[in-house]
Amino acid sequence: MKKRILTLFVIISMFATLMPATAVYAESDESPEATYQFETKNIVGNGNGCEDIIFVIAGDGFTSSEQQLFESKAEELADYILDTEPFSDLKENISFYCIDVISEESGSGNGANDLKNTFFKTYYNIGRIDRLISSKKSFFEIKKLFSNYVPYYDYGLLLVNDTRYGGSGGSISIASINSKSYEIMLHEMGHSIANLADEYWYADAAYEHINMTKESDPEKVPWADLIGEDGIGVYPYDGNSEWYRPSLNCKMEYLGKNHPFCAVCKRAIKKSLESKMEHDLHTDKEVAPTCTATGITEGSHCDVCGKIIKAQETIPATGHSMTAHPEVPATYTANGTALYWTCLNCGKMFSDEQGENEISDPVLIPKLAKKTQPVKVITSTKSVKAKKLKKKARTVKPLTVKGYKGTVSYKITGGNAKAKKALSINKKTGKITVKKKTAKGTYTVKVKVSVTGTDMYKTFSKTVSVTVKVK
Ligand SMILES: [Zn+2]
Ligand SMILES: [Zn+2]
Ligand SMILES: [Zn+2]
Ligand SMILES: [Zn+2]
Repeated sequence: MKKRILTLFVIISMFATLMPATAVYAESDESPEATYQFETKNIVGNGNGCEDIIFVIAGDGFTSSEQQLFESKAEELADYILDTEPFSDLKENISFYCIDVISEESGSGNGANDLKNTFFKTYYNIGRIDRLISSKKSFFEIKKLFSNYVPYYDYGLLLVNDTRYGGSGGSISIASINSKSYEIMLHEMGHSIANLADEYWYADAAYEHINMTKESDPEKVPWADLIGEDGIGVYPYDGNSEWYRPSLNCKMEYLGKNHPFCAVCKRAIKKSLESKMEHDLHTDKEVAPTCTATGITEGSHCDVCGKIIKAQETIPATGHSMTAHPEVPATYTANGTALYWTCLNCGKMFSDEQGENEISDPVLIPKLAKKTQPVKVITSTKSVKAKKLKKKARTVKPLTVKGYKGTVSYKITGGNAKAKKALSINKKTGKITVKKKTAKGTYTVKVKVSVTGTDMYKTFSKTVSVTVKVK
């Protein structure tokens, strides 16, 4: 008997996505793990790590005296799931846990305003769809509770202690203990585990899926490689011939033991389940070493359980790669620079080859100090006969300057008026000219001898007295 579930699932899907997120849980500040201590039991398999496929089942509406019923129903549900392909293919890898959640009252509510005092406050009849079950607790809260009890669980299921047919999907699948409800759960798991599309027409969910496409070419549909297998083809949707599905008999369209997941959906669910058998790899980037700091090699760890998959190893510091810059000696006119090193890797500058003393500029060697002029100024008193001065001036050389470096110059800077009038000096040669008709007497002037100096020698000046006698 093929029972169309179109209407039911259109609405289930709507509520599954909308209701839990907007549901307000009146006791949301109550911390379940703090208030309750429930027992967790391992009912199938023994995987408990991040790399195991783990289902967890919690019950709602099971009182403390109904925990045995819950456990046997949880086992029944686990068996039901594991009896369905592709779950059966991975039987060896799937573990089931149940959490003995104790409710005050037995059963489930009948509408949001007719709740029972159960732990998850589940209730039927959302939006007047009598088979649709939801919970007043948000999926976020339920998942938090699940992970507190079974840290690495992959799929959470809520089993409601009510024999009325009903269930819903979303990130937690809900079903009642009416075994027909398990079919709702399986269908919903197709959505939540493998992101499968419904294979009945539901306009709002019409977008490209693994099992739904606008492509009609059998060679181009996402399931092209499975065509011909177990009735897999390219079938237009009833209700919209622009979209295609792979099967006419899939659990994503019909519920019931006689409607298995089609080969396309099976493969997708299996692939997703298998992905849970791997850690959630997170790459830890390599950090390159520097000249002075160690680095680390690339590694990886699991983002979920933290297990180190590939350990990162220390890479030693590279050390500097030094180039020497030879000393530039100072001169008398320019500073020099001391020997220093620069590193080809980090570009830093050091005053030592070991790179212990970093500098920002080369160390300067100051210009050489200029030497003192080795000059000698010798004066001698010269005499001129007055007779000879009658007709013309005479020149004498009372000054001798030796050993100077640079250019020497002379200038009369002092003396009495008479002497300054009688004598004049050649500023380049230092020769003194006695004027024509100078009268007899002693003439003394101050002469400043200046030497310009050179790059290596300082300037020099000295004032000496020069005397010429006119006899
Ligand atoms: Zn569906
Ligand atoms: Zn299918
Ligand atoms: Zn892990
Ligand atoms: Zn360096």
